[in-house]
Amino acid sequence: MDKLTICDRCGSDACYVQEVTPEITNHFCYGCGFQSNTLMTEGSEFMNQQTEALPELYKDLLFKDKTGKMWMPSWINDAEKGMIFAYGPGGKDWRWAAVKAIKRTKEDKKRNPNLKTEYKMDMVNQAYFTEKDFMEALDYIGFLTA
Ligand SMILES: [Zn+2]
Repeated sequence: MDKLTICDRCGSDACYVQEVTPEITNHFCYGCGFQSNTLMTEGSEFMNQQTEALPELYKDLLFKDKTGKMWMPSWINDAEKGMIFAYGPGGKDWRWAAVKAIKRTKEDKKRNPNLKTEYKMDMVNQAYFTEKDFMEALDYIGFLTA
């Protein structure tokens, strides 16, 4: 069952909890933009595999809550809406970066005929949001509208 609960990381009441299997429950907080699941505990094999591929900033921002779950910043990548990712030089100085996906023009398709997608990421117009404004970042790329 899916439900909203209090986030064990930031304390907001916008933490979306989803049971994937009886053993695995995902937590995705719309308040702080961090995510976790029941397999993400300190030193677990799953956690080690997860963190291996993470950018340095994401490793810096790993957070252990009072129940022992590890949280990491989300990385949203939706081909038709856009991307949101943590951006900055380090864990003490970072923001959410949001990039909108835009429809490719005829000229663009002519220039890059091998690219088959209808959309591309509008990297020139990257927008920044503070940690607690994660919802605004979602709103910026239209992630919450169908
Ligand atoms: Zn949170």
